[in-house]
Amino acid sequence: MTSTAAAGIFAASQPLAGSSGPAVIVQGSSKPVIIASGNGHQFKNGGTKTCVETAWEKMMRGDDVLDAVIAGVNIVELDPLEDSVGYGGLPNADGVVQLDSCCMHGPRKKAGGVGASENVKTPSLLAKAVMDKTDHVLLVGKDVSTFARNLGFEIVPDLNTPNSRAKWLDWKQRTDPFYIKIKDPLEREAALRQVTDQMVSEGLINANHRYGTINCNGVNANGDICGVTTTSGMAFKIPGRLGDSPIVGAGLYVDGEIGAAGSTGRGEANLFGLCSFLIVDEMRRGKSPKDAGMEACRRIKANTIDKRLLNSRGEPNFSVNFYIVNKRGEYAGVGLYGTTPFAVCDAKGPRTERQEPLLAGGPGD
Ligand code: ASP
Repeated sequence: MTSTAAAGIFAASQPLAGSSGPAVIVQGSSKPVIIASGNGHQFKNGGTKTCVETAWEKMMRGDDVLDAVIAGVNIVELDPLEDSVGYGGLPNADGVVQLDSCCMHGPRKKAGGVGASENVKTPSLLAKAVMDKTDHVLLVGKDVSTFARNLGFEIVPDLNTPNSRAKWLDWKQRTDPFYIKIKDPLEREAALRQVTDQMVSEGLINANHRYGTINCNGVNANGDICGVTTTSGMAFKIPGRLGDSPIVGAGLYVDGEIGAAGSTGRGEANLFGLCSFLIVDEMRRGKSPKDAGMEACRRIKANTIDKRLLNSRGEPNFSVNFYIVNKRGEYAGVGLYGTTPFAVCDAKGPRTERQEPLLAGGPGD
């Protein structure tokens, strides 16, 4: 934490006009904060700082808020131990790692994203490149690699690590017979999912990495709000499947006048209601971050009626989680269930906090 932060004096993001010196120090109108999913205060990629610590430090020294949160998530994307995000993320059913990301810049009112990107370790930087260097918002598929190569990104032939490949090989050996035995595609997908669940219960796959993503949002003392979401998506997904993470309004939404919300968890459930957009719109109508997030969770629960998606209590057998901040710097982490913590860094320092759940118990009950 910086001494200026400890003193409650916040660094604005703009340097003095005509000066190349340090950022202007002003008493801010917003309370600066960085908020992220729990993996934002867990992985360090062999370094000394987590995502939220890095993003906070950069934001408080006056860096652009989007650059700060992207520098934070880059740590998690590059850490091979985090196998649900970036390099070494669990691959799709064909063994190919396909990464999704989007980012939004509140003050600049800009957004960018990539889907099913196969050859760059840090899709968040590609999302920003789409935002900054094209007239578009979303690029998907193999052509993302051509775009990246043309911009000078490091192109990696295969984003698997020995860990992600070994887990996929195990899954593949268990599931190959299904492609011959089970003709109905929906039935087959259910059987494939059961194998992943089995690997989770055997402790071979981290329960949080069956799905798994990082979302990180920040607001500085100026009230500049930005956010980024990045993921390898659902483990062993159908090749080409996009979840919510690269979709503006679903995996992330930022309105520079209101606030930001981003998600982790079952992307299909979030895509149906574009919940990050919904949350920011609820805040626009006056709701607090927590109440806005709860409204999204209630909608997801109400829209989940397929039997295969319900647990023994008749409630969703998955979670979706939201990380929310408003322009004043008030924040909340909410979810269908309270099973995962979320990460925060503000003047009080980096920490994880308990997520506010809509429902009691866990998705597997
Ligand atoms: N939301 C991501 C997806 O559905 C995965 C996750 O966050 O766990 O692709």
